[in-house]
Amino acid sequence: MFQADYFDATTSTKRAVTVVVQEGELRITGAEVDVRFPLASVNLQSRIGGVPPRIELADGGALVCHADYAAVADELGVVPAKTLAHKLESNLKFVFASLVGVIVAGWFAYTQGIPWLATTVAERLPVTIERDLGRASLAWLDSNVFSPSKLDAAQKEEIRKGFAELLAQTPLPREVRLEFRYGGWIDANALALPGQIVVLTDQLVGVMSNNDQVLAVLAHELGHVEHRHGLRNLLQSSMTGLLALVVWGDASAVASVAASIPTAMVHAGYSRQAEREADVYAFDLLKRTGRSPERFAEAILLLEARHTSKMDGERSAGSDYFSTHPDSTQRAKEARAAALAP
Ligand SMILES: [Zn+2]
Repeated sequence: MFQADYFDATTSTKRAVTVVVQEGELRITGAEVDVRFPLASVNLQSRIGGVPPRIELADGGALVCHADYAAVADELGVVPAKTLAHKLESNLKFVFASLVGVIVAGWFAYTQGIPWLATTVAERLPVTIERDLGRASLAWLDSNVFSPSKLDAAQKEEIRKGFAELLAQTPLPREVRLEFRYGGWIDANALALPGQIVVLTDQLVGVMSNNDQVLAVLAHELGHVEHRHGLRNLLQSSMTGLLALVVWGDASAVASVAASIPTAMVHAGYSRQAEREADVYAFDLLKRTGRSPERFAEAILLLEARHTSKMDGERSAGSDYFSTHPDSTQRAKEARAAALAP
């Protein structure tokens, strides 16, 4: 016998009752209540830590028992089920460990999963889609940042010729485009957009003392093209925004990412690792086309000097070479080492 709150199927009001089990029946009695159910028709719900035992009745009513689970189970002749869920629930340490696990997994997904996913998607994304993204990015930059190049035709032609020589020594297709633009606020810069588009600004050409230095920069950009860094960056920043939406419900993050997709590459720059990959690629490519990585060392120091003077010591947000490269001196050193290596 035990006490319980009885909820009948129709009114759902709570009534205090006494429950007795006799002759295969569950008898519920109390003020204005006297009902019986065959024991086989009632169902003691599996135990949930801390919650009073609950018995579902055949007609849709229920009993919430004022006795512990073991006592009720004993009364009903049910073997108390020590479910795994209950064992785990009653173990606070486990609950805490699970919570920590979830947080760690979430953090890992955020910091490692997104770059991994971006790389994986970048490697599998059809070339046609990447081209569309590249075209859209360039169109956006053209209407917001760039204006037509003012370089003279002969100089452009000479740079194009050198670029074609570099390209011929890579496994990249001939369709890799070199675009000349006046750079606006991104100033002396070069960009590798998705879809195998390399953009060179007039200001960058102006800062260099010779075309071989310009070509050293372009060799570095070809490294970004070959490694598809532009696409990876673009995907990564969009995914971070999407995840922010899912996790924090932060719609503004997505809106801002969507609006800035074309400039993501310009603003965010590449990771150190991506820059290193592009540098090493450039040193090798320059040597294979009979040029010295020394020109790259000169180019990077000229760019550093330009941005330092122009920004009055403040770092330019828009520079591939500058914002992500506080280590220009180190990179120049590595270029010189590469020039001396056999
Ligand atoms: Zn770069």
